Amino acid sequence: MSLQPSWVSSANAPDCDFPLNNLPYGVFSHGDDDPHCGVAIGDQILDLTEAEACGIVALTDEPLFDLPFWNPLMEQGPAVWAALRARLAALLAKGSSEQERIADLLVPMAGARLHMPIMVSEYTDFYAGRHHAANVGAMFRGAENALPPNWLHMPIGYNGRASSVQVSGTPVRRPWGQIKSARHDSPAFLPSRRFDFELELGAIVGTPSDGPLSVQRADDAIFGYVLLNDWSARDIQGWEAQPLGPFQAKATATSISPWIVTSAALAPFRRAAPARDVALLAHLDDCGPMHYDIDLCVTLAPDGQPATTICRTNTRELYYSAAQQLAHHSTSGCPMNTGDLLGSGTISGATRPERGSLLELSWGGQEPLSLETGHTRRFLEDGDHLVLSGAAQGKGYRIGFGDCAGTVLPALDDPFGDQG
Ligand code: MN
Repeated sequence: MSLQPSWVSSANAPDCDFPLNNLPYGVFSHGDDDPHCGVAIGDQILDLTEAEACGIVALTDEPLFDLPFWNPLMEQGPAVWAALRARLAALLAKGSSEQERIADLLVPMAGARLHMPIMVSEYTDFYAGRHHAANVGAMFRGAENALPPNWLHMPIGYNGRASSVQVSGTPVRRPWGQIKSARHDSPAFLPSRRFDFELELGAIVGTPSDGPLSVQRADDAIFGYVLLNDWSARDIQGWEAQPLGPFQAKATATSISPWIVTSAALAPFRRAAPARDVALLAHLDDCGPMHYDIDLCVTLAPDGQPATTICRTNTRELYYSAAQQLAHHSTSGCPMNTGDLLGSGTISGATRPERGSLLELSWGGQEPLSLETGHTRRFLEDGDHLVLSGAAQGKGYRIGFGDCAGTVLPALDDPFGDQG
């Protein structure tokens, strides 16, 4: 696969995140205008709500893009997804006979405000990164027990909160919570001092289901992917998650990148699963290339200071594909809905600069990380600005995700205000 040229010239630059090969879906607005569905192409956004209203895009009898989220299209299933992608590719390709009609529907991305692209139905967070699981296990249970005994047999996860998912650019406020330090016999209610990020890939369920899905069917049901930062309060987590999973430690916020990169756009970047230490049970076994080769990067900028790259890794570090996560999620008969969001779990590689959380980068705070500004970090400080970015690298083009950014705001002085 090579670059597919577009008449939108900015889309043809080799370092552009949004060439014609990509066509990711988002929701945008300008000024006080209502948010519209849009497609990123180069440095422009094609206003799809407008394109549908004037009949240039007509996939179904009922409108699909008159609401400011992509769930109505996602509910239609893979045939309609493919029809939309083909129509958009034809409209925006170099030499398109409809260039003049379409030109008026392009708006500059600069100055546009990006909104949540979907209504998140439910949010589940997995733990499918092997090095992350092994690092965390080694820190808390010792190197010999790094991976829990179930880990090589199924993707471990917990049910999170859809209400906490927010779009890139939205700040996150440092949470208060119950914290129990080793030095004290009792917990205290305090602002988190070990607030962290987690570099993850989010998968978005398109087709709903009501019963167990095979891995192949699960793969077919996934509409697309976003970058995801699962903000995590490690001190709250350490006290509350005994014996159940994360609860308030993960409920403050989860940020996602604003553009849904479709499974179709990522198809050339599918890769085989990693070698399996133990064979997976048949219902979770690999049945084709369902992992992806996506380069990932995290930068951290202290309040108003230049950014330092603190992590570079790749989604190939995931042991389980999103399809296997979704298949496992459904084994109990758990219904899955359009707009369900599945976080992959933190993605870390084998070496220190490939670690996708500060918990790992600073090894539980014992080995502070040095930034290029001269600052050091064990965990996030107030004012820190985190940016997750990612792209699949093709020949002369890339499939980019756009940034997943967020700034840490200081904890409230009094989280309960004047409630009495
Ligand atoms: Mn997570």
